[in-house]
Amino acid sequence: MHTNDMIAFEHLTVRYPAAKGQNKPMAAVEDVSLTVPQGTVCAIIGPSGCGKSTLLKAVAGLIEPSAGRVRLAGRAADPKSACIGFMPQNYGLLPWQTVRGNILLGCRIRGLWHEGRAADEERLQKLMAELHIEEFSARYPRELSGGQQQRVSLARAFLLRPDILLMDEPFSALDAITREEMQDVFLKLWQQEHITTLLVTHYVEEALYLGQHIVVMGAHPGHIARIIENPLGGRAEVRGTQEFFEMGRGLREEIRRISRENTENTGKEGQA
Ligand code: ADP
Ligand code: MG
Repeated sequence: MHTNDMIAFEHLTVRYPAAKGQNKPMAAVEDVSLTVPQGTVCAIIGPSGCGKSTLLKAVAGLIEPSAGRVRLAGRAADPKSACIGFMPQNYGLLPWQTVRGNILLGCRIRGLWHEGRAADEERLQKLMAELHIEEFSARYPRELSGGQQQRVSLARAFLLRPDILLMDEPFSALDAITREEMQDVFLKLWQQEHITTLLVTHYVEEALYLGQHIVVMGAHPGHIARIIENPLGGRAEVRGTQEFFEMGRGLREEIRRISRENTENTGKEGQA
């Protein structure tokens, strides 16, 4: 791996324990090798069940590899050595905590929040203002729309200034307009901090808009089918351009082709 690689999957295989009455389980992901350079966004796209969430969980240290390994900044993956922000699909907000409490959660757990310290408070207020959630500070998650909850979740992740940000289909539950707004909000924050990010998404345009690297996965078992370098990723001005449109069409075709190859190889139904 290169010295500037923040995340490195090295021949990673993950097998979950077989369910009762089943033989040897198929690997959730098999022999995945991938490096993500520091400060970049890597978008992962692929059919349901191809092991996208499994990859994120392996980085977060939530599951043990069956073979191979994950290295973070050159060291064995260890949640204690790298600061990792994990945004799960359902936002991961605690219903009994206010917006403020939820945003501070990650920092508090790691002892990075100092109640009453002006610099900390200023940073929090600035972030909440940027995300347009400052007036919701005392509210509870159930009193917010999906898009607002998503902003709170983003605020929590960015306040932490993690080395690595893991986002599991973060904008999927949002309507199309709100999703595009949230992509812009994310991009603005990312352009300030350049946090190395693994972003799992179902949306071709989202992968293209945010990912400098796009990893297309196939299933049965989960594997990397293609890695595409994307010069358009992370540039707000490209949305709506002809170039963006053409790239989108190309990527869609590529994904369809991979899905077809997958189906032919396994005899299983390819899911899009
Ligand atoms: P994706 O996020 O791409 O939809 P996942 O990583 O969630 O895929 O799952 C990959 C495969 O592993 C799927 O076949 C899924 O059924 C299986 N799997 C995921 N989590 C578990 C688990 N805890 N126990 C057993 N099998 C699992
Ligand atoms: Mg998943």
